[in-house]
Amino acid sequence: MSDGKRKESAMKRKVCPVCSKEFLTRHNAQRYCSRACTYASQRKENSELRRKREQIPAGQVPVKIKIIKRIPVFEELRPIKGLVYDAVKCTGLNVNPFYIIPMGGKKVVIRADECVEVCG
Ligand SMILES: [Zn+2]
Repeated sequence: MSDGKRKESAMKRKVCPVCSKEFLTRHNAQRYCSRACTYASQRKENSELRRKREQIPAGQVPVKIKIIKRIPVFEELRPIKGLVYDAVKCTGLNVNPFYIIPMGGKKVVIRADECVEVCG
C-alpha cells in the first residue's frame, strides 16, 4: 500500500445536498462541497424556519361580540352597532387580538376596541 492510496482511503466520498456534486473530505462533519453551498443551505434553512414561524396558526376561538362602534366597512357588510354577533376571536403572538364576523359570505374584521365580548 502506497502512501497515496492510504491518503485516499481516509477521504470520505460525499454528495453535496445543495448542488448534488460528489466531493471528497476528511471531515465527517462536512456536509457541503464548498463554503458557497454551506451558506446557500443555511439561507434555505433560515427561510424555511421563518416560513414555519409565520405559519403558526393564530388562536381562533368562537365568541359572541357586541358591536360598540360604527365599523368602517361597506354598508352591506357593516355589523350594526349595539347588536351581538357570532365571531371568531383571533389571537397571535405579535398581533393585537381581533375578531372576524362572517357577513354575507365575506369576513369582516373587528378590532378589539370596536366591540365587547359577551357571554353566549
Ligand atoms: Zn455543493
